[in-house]
Amino acid sequence: MHELAITQSMLDLVLKQAEEAGAKKVGKINLVIGGMTGVVGDCVQFYFKFLGQGTIAEGAVLSFTKVPTAARCQSCGKHFEVEEFAWACPHCGGNSLQIVAGKELFVESIEVE
Ligand SMILES: [Zn+2]
Repeated sequence: MHELAITQSMLDLVLKQAEEAGAKKVGKINLVIGGMTGVVGDCVQFYFKFLGQGTIAEGAVLSFTKVPTAARCQSCGKHFEVEEFAWACPHCGGNSLQIVAGKELFVESIEVE
């Protein structure tokens, strides 16, 4: 359950950016979450509702963009999307993989009023 800490730091960042922009209210927060992070959008949503109370981000809509986990096989060099818990290359069966996508976790943009 590391979503609480993640949501807190996300909220801090959003509030800072909104303040710098002179915003009165945060309408929408666009987040990018990679498959590798294990972060569950519903949990972030839940904590956000709780943590955002009394801030200008209260009631803001959270929008999640999920990035699938992708890897490059070190044996045959092919790129592919990694199925959960299937850590082998679908082309050659090799299991020496380099993760090339899926570790993303950041606030892409915010919409303020
Ligand atoms: Zn391979």
